[in-house]
Amino acid sequence: MGHSKREQLVFTVKDKCRVCYTCVRECPVKAIRIINGQAEVLSERCIGCGNCITVCSQNAKEFLQLKKEVETLLSDKKNKVVACLAPSFPGEFVDFDDYKTLIGMLRLLGFYKVLDVAFGADLVAKEYKKLQDNTTNKFITSDCPAIVFYIEQYHPQLIDNIAPIASPLVATARLAKILYGEDIKIVFLGPCVAKKAESDEIDEALTFKELRELFLKNDIKPENATKSDFDGPKSGMGAIFPLSRGLLQTVNKTDSIVNGKIIVDSGKNNFKEAIKEFEKGEIADYHLELLCCNGCIMGAGMTEKAKRFFKRSQISKYVKQKLKNLDYNQWENDIQKYKNIDLSQSFINNDKRNTNIGSSEVESVLRKMGKINLSDHLNCGACGYDTCYEHAEAVVWGYAEDEMCLPYTIEKLHKLIEELNLSNENLKNTRLALKHSEKLANMGQISAGIAHELNNPLGIITMYSNILLEELKNNEQTKKDVQLIVEQADRCKNIVNGLLNFARKNKIKVEEVNILDFIKKSIDSLVIPENVEVYIPAETSDPYFMIDYEQMMQVFTNLARNAVEAMPDGGKLSFFVNGNDKNIEIKIKDTGIGIKEENKEKLFTPFFTTKEIGKGTGLGLPLVYGIIKMHNGKIRAISNAEPEKGQTGTEFIINLPRII
Ligand code: ADP
Ligand code: MG
Repeated sequence: MGHSKREQLVFTVKDKCRVCYTCVRECPVKAIRIINGQAEVLSERCIGCGNCITVCSQNAKEFLQLKKEVETLLSDKKNKVVACLAPSFPGEFVDFDDYKTLIGMLRLLGFYKVLDVAFGADLVAKEYKKLQDNTTNKFITSDCPAIVFYIEQYHPQLIDNIAPIASPLVATARLAKILYGEDIKIVFLGPCVAKKAESDEIDEALTFKELRELFLKNDIKPENATKSDFDGPKSGMGAIFPLSRGLLQTVNKTDSIVNGKIIVDSGKNNFKEAIKEFEKGEIADYHLELLCCNGCIMGAGMTEKAKRFFKRSQISKYVKQKLKNLDYNQWENDIQKYKNIDLSQSFINNDKRNTNIGSSEVESVLRKMGKINLSDHLNCGACGYDTCYEHAEAVVWGYAEDEMCLPYTIEKLHKLIEELNLSNENLKNTRLALKHSEKLANMGQISAGIAHELNNPLGIITMYSNILLEELKNNEQTKKDVQLIVEQADRCKNIVNGLLNFARKNKIKVEEVNILDFIKKSIDSLVIPENVEVYIPAETSDPYFMIDYEQMMQVFTNLARNAVEAMPDGGKLSFFVNGNDKNIEIKIKDTGIGIKEENKEKLFTPFFTTKEIGKGTGLGLPLVYGIIKMHNGKIRAISNAEPEKGQTGTEFIINLPRII
């Protein structure tokens, strides 16, 4: 930028930034970097147009404040500080009845003289007229500093096409030095942020916003001011300058869009389009008059963001009034008098274009964002970039983050939710299992104690009742009674054995076993009623797994016995074997009565049984569960006990690792 002192014109107010990407979208040169969820202005890329300030709904963008600097200038009595007032002021100070009030207030603030930049515009307009008449080189107007920065930084090959004419402000500043001496200080007052960096010939530049704040701080009110007119020569048509097409009208009132050789445009998208086409030579016969904002009246330094047409009307009203009172002869004389002021201006190559990057890098970013095919490029613009490709380029340059892509982030969130649900489910299961094994461990301890204590007396009862039985050869009735004692004592022993089995916290001793042979063996050790059909697959792809033979036999006989007991009227008991190289899955399925919904939770709880006294102990499934767990396996049951829902029956599904 032209002003060597001004490094950064626009800042982000970090606390206020909600990262909506509006500034990214609205920045004509993509000078916004999103980093760690913050929108940061890249000063080296910024052209100071202030568009991001205007569009941010959170007021999270601020321009460089120079009030202090101006106050310092004004407070030093040695300084002669000349104010150069931008011709857009009637669009700002709409609350004042007369422009002379504003000038009076500026004098109260301490300005030595107040010059009308519109006269600078008049001087500049003459130069444009000359240029238009004498050059074959097509030019782009140089009055908007943001446009000049844009060309210097992003289209440096067009630098020679920028009209080599000073801006109305610089022209006014040069006039001021002629009028009041080289040692004066110059302060610009206007609507523009980019002006703060336009030229070293201007000491400071304040926006109207800052100017109002200075008035407020110094308690300068319109009613205290003495109305006063501009110093220096009076301006003419130059006052219309801040409107789009203003320069055109200043240069040549008769020029029209139809027969003129100037294309006029403004606004952040239009000026870029125009420059692009100009560069390609598509509008070769025309000059370009461009403003970055929609006319200077829409500059970011105005206090009111909207009301474009109201502001326009205010300026028109002011100019009309002004021209009515203008002494044209005097004006022509003034123009003649200062026609020899040097109004030349040169521009520098300040190339800030990004170096080309390999498409493979961009492609890989695109892939990461899930954009593999062209149809994945939604170009929805939610990230602030027009296309997915531009977004990916910005990621490669380090200006953007991949998370800015809304479809990608939503997809990521979905995946995250899925994973979360899954781990939630796992957690739930683990909690249940933990509760269960805790219960089992407690049960185990108690059972072991009781069983141990009962074993000896039971042994004695069995032994003595057997002796008695042998001795009671003739007394049939007593023999029957003792027989009953023997039977019941045996039953007690069975229960106690079951308890001991269950409580035994054995280590397992694994060996390689063929599952199909193993199933056959487990069936052989049971009495299968005739009305129960057993199905065992003839073969399976990989039948081998590592188990503790004895213990796993208990699992299978218990499950098979339960299945048979659930089919009092007959049915089918089937085994299925499946698996991969890591796990084996065995299903044991019956067509029995099924398990009622309310009992499903209690299945593996010790002593839970639905069988009549003397038949069930409720220790089978807890034992099964414990053994499967020791094999690092899983067991679950699917069951239907309601005939109206289809075939009743139960299926126990066991998953075991092939190798523990
Ligand atoms: P028990 O067989 O001594 O009752 P288990 O722990 O082996 O004890 O089984 C507990 C209960 O689970 C049984 O009483 C029965 O209600 C139910 N059950 C187990 N397996 C089946 C099955 N295959 N079909 C229907 N119910 C079953
Ligand atoms: Mg059982």
